[in-house]
Amino acid sequence: MTGRAEIIVRMGEPQDSPSPVLSVEPGLCGACRHASVKGTNRGTVYLRCTRAAWDDRLVRYPRLPVRDCPGFTPVGGEDGTR
Ligand code: SF4
Repeated sequence: MTGRAEIIVRMGEPQDSPSPVLSVEPGLCGACRHASVKGTNRGTVYLRCTRAAWDDRLVRYPRLPVRDCPGFTPVGGEDGTR
């Protein structure tokens, strides 16, 4: 994993869009149970890795797309590490 990186993704969705959508392909994060996608009322969408809170190998805001990740856990899958 490289150094700490944050990604801020601007999107063209309306501000009242019910669910924020990333404008970039997230890679593994797109199918990972630890990914949390949040939008602001200014149209910025963030993908945060919730696993980074307790797994020191990961960063809170990974650079997208993530192609390889030691913490990847499929949505609906068992974590098994904690
Ligand atoms: S554990 Fe890895 S794949 Fe899953 S959200 Fe975090 S950075 Fe993305």
